[in-house]
Amino acid sequence: HAKELGRNNYQFFTEALNMKVQERLALENSLRKALEREEFMLYYQPQVDLKTGEIKGVEALIRWNSPERGLISPGVFIPIAEETGLIVPMGEWILRSACIQSLKWRQPGYPGLRMSVNISARQFREPQFIEKVAEVIKETGMDPQWLEIEITESIAMEYAEDSMEQLRRLKQLGVRIAIDDFGTGYSSMNYLRKLPIDTLKVDQSFVQDIGIDENGEAIVVTIIHLAQSLNLKVIAEGVETENQQIFLRTNRCHEMQGYLFCKPVPPVEVEKYLHMGNSSKVK
Ligand code: C2E
Ligand code: MG
Ligand code: MG
Ligand code: MG
Repeated sequence: HAKELGRNNYQFFTEALNMKVQERLALENSLRKALEREEFMLYYQPQVDLKTGEIKGVEALIRWNSPERGLISPGVFIPIAEETGLIVPMGEWILRSACIQSLKWRQPGYPGLRMSVNISARQFREPQFIEKVAEVIKETGMDPQWLEIEITESIAMEYAEDSMEQLRRLKQLGVRIAIDDFGTGYSSMNYLRKLPIDTLKVDQSFVQDIGIDENGEAIVVTIIHLAQSLNLKVIAEGVETENQQIFLRTNRCHEMQGYLFCKPVPPVEVEKYLHMGNSSKVK
């Protein structure tokens, strides 16, 4: 009967919803414990000079290996960490760990490497953010000119006045600033040119259009030109094919990162490249 069916549907719906809520709560709880249980690791992805093939920097990317759940992607847990505010202590741990790792790589025979660290919206807006970055730099002895802070284009463009002020204060610490996922937000060119930034990162969605979609290609070229006319470094993300690499080099993009050269890897794997004295250059 209709009535019964309705009730069954309703029951089914609430059970499914309950499951979702339960799952979500359980995930939140595991996430809360993960920091103290030391379940997080930073992986690093090399950023390679398209002209010389040298590794110029690495981007730190967090990995969570939960004993109960296995490997969980940051695309899943970073948004939860943002919503719960856990991103604040987690973000501080990320920054500190990346600085400590960077100092371990400042050795004779190793090339100078930029260390790029992603910062999420909530972290960036937190009142104590700048003070915390300053504190981590001081406590670890990190040389700020080798530290690059990545903020997505959307974060930089939202609350433009406040973001500008926050970026200026950040810049005063002597760090570099990169705009991540560039091309996916809604930049005002007038605002962009006033930002105290050093690098534009071409979003991987456009890079993956190379050889496939002319409009995507046009966007890649436009971003490269924009970066060059603003005297910014330009890095292409998500480079997976030779063809993309050739296109980027031909169009004078400065650097690339992507599976073609190297996935994000644990520190020891990065060291293999560094030991080779950067002789493992891309063709
Ligand atoms: P993102 O900062 O734009 O990082 C680039 C993402 O592209 C990474 O995914 C990286 O593993 C992936 N990638 C690199 N090369 C290729 C490629 O050739 N092809 C493809 N398809 N993908 C490639 P990941 O590590 O899963 O991170 C996803 C996002 O999660 C990041 O995007 C960033 O927004 C966030 N995230 C990761 N680690 C951190 C962190 O330590 N702190 C914060 N706040 N966010 C992080
Ligand atoms: Mg990034
Ligand atoms: Mg990106
Ligand atoms: Mg992204």
